[in-house]
Amino acid sequence: RAKAALNQAVCFYEVSMDEAARGRRSLANDLWNAIPKNQLSLHYQVQKSVLTGETIGYEVLLRWNHPERGMVPPSEFIPLAEECGAILPIGEWVLREACREAASWNEGYKIAVNLSPVQLSNSDIVALVHEVLLETGLSAKRLELEITESTIIQDKDRALLTLRQIKALGATIAIDDFGTGYSSLETLRAFPFDKIKLDRSFMLEVEVSPQAKAIVRAILALGQSLAVPVLAEGVETQSQLDILQSEGCDEAQGYFLGRPQSMDAHALLGLKRSA
Ligand code: C2E
Ligand code: MG
Ligand code: MG
Ligand code: MG
Repeated sequence: RAKAALNQAVCFYEVSMDEAARGRRSLANDLWNAIPKNQLSLHYQVQKSVLTGETIGYEVLLRWNHPERGMVPPSEFIPLAEECGAILPIGEWVLREACREAASWNEGYKIAVNLSPVQLSNSDIVALVHEVLLETGLSAKRLELEITESTIIQDKDRALLTLRQIKALGATIAIDDFGTGYSSLETLRAFPFDKIKLDRSFMLEVEVSPQAKAIVRAILALGQSLAVPVLAEGVETQSQLDILQSEGCDEAQGYFLGRPQSMDAHALLGLKRSA
């Protein structure tokens, strides 16, 4: 009887695995059609100077409006897009849209675009960046590319070369989600970053945990000694911002300063150059 129960459990497991796999396949299929079907859009989230409150730039965050499933979060579809390869055309679309958008603004704010590890290792990202800058007329110094450490851990030599070439074009590189996952001081030493983005998890704790605050302080000191500005992600309250200010953090981003929103959203309309 125990064996029958086990068999049943195994079967159930296989059926649900099968369903999950089918679900992923159909979602991956939909993903390949997301661009031609106009289901992708971009949201923009402000990045500000902690000291002066001035706007420095906007991070571009991809949104997928699926006809049946509604808004699918990036945490669900980016990994899938990376697995099935759709991240290459999608990443290219994001870069082109973002640069075209920023080039139309009447302010020279930076635009920060997330790059997938797959784009860095499986495409000629340098040629693409070059092409998109020429095509949109965006000044290279206004383009920042955000990468996580998982991006460079796979093939360090190639990643280093690629990042150097991107910087030679005049664009800048930020290390995203710093302080979690693969983060290591070795990466900071070896790679030519222009900005450190302190992972959001530290903001969750900084008000209540002396340890978190000590680590934030240490990373800010590190940024200062390396002459690399630090941006704190996920700032949701005034008191977090106050702490960042008293600790000398350079930049901040988070719901307290502004939610990610579409260009049509009221707060960003003033950015558009009047035709
Ligand atoms: P990320 O690059 O670290 O982006 C920051 C994420 O934190 C965004 O989530 C943003 O909406 C969210 N966020 C911002 N402020 C706050 C806050 O105060 N509190 C909280 N709780 N969250 C905040 P989102 O838009 O869901 O994106 C998740 C991740 O998906 C991004 O993390 C990035 O890794 C990836 N992603 C988004 N767009 C793209 C893209 O165009 N290409 C690639 N390759 N990845 C993307
Ligand atoms: Mg990012
Ligand atoms: Mg981040
Ligand atoms: Mg993140």
